[in-house]
Amino acid sequence: MTKGSCLCGAVKFEVGDNTTEIGMCHCSKCRRVSGTASNATLMVGVDGFRWIAGENTLAKYAMDDGWGVWRCSVCGSPVPRMHPAGQAYWVPAGLLEDDPGVGVAGHIFVGSRAPWDNITDSCAQYEEGVDGKKLR
Ligand SMILES: [Zn+2]
Ligand SMILES: [Zn+2]
Repeated sequence: MTKGSCLCGAVKFEVGDNTTEIGMCHCSKCRRVSGTASNATLMVGVDGFRWIAGENTLAKYAMDDGWGVWRCSVCGSPVPRMHPAGQAYWVPAGLLEDDPGVGVAGHIFVGSRAPWDNITDSCAQYEEGVDGKKLR
């Protein structure tokens, strides 16, 4: 198990070893949620996720299309969020305290990245999602 927590420590959780690799999303929504060039998230099935603290104090925001973000209501860190299908959690990789044992799989929505966003690693890049056009 790998533990994770928000900036202030009010939200704590742990994930099992059955996570996906880390995806970096450069879309305009993820840039606003993260405040930087992209977010870094992995997914884990509901069986591999457990809240330790703070689950009842989350600030939940959803857009009209259902896309949204959950945050710690004390410090504002983005925190794990249930996938709309209810089978898995998106987990912000930056909250993990230990090595999750997976690396970055690739970058998505590279076609809408910020003009100053210079991706320098050699991971796969997709114009939009992984089912769409692969840029490299
Ligand atoms: Zn917090
Ligand atoms: Zn995104």
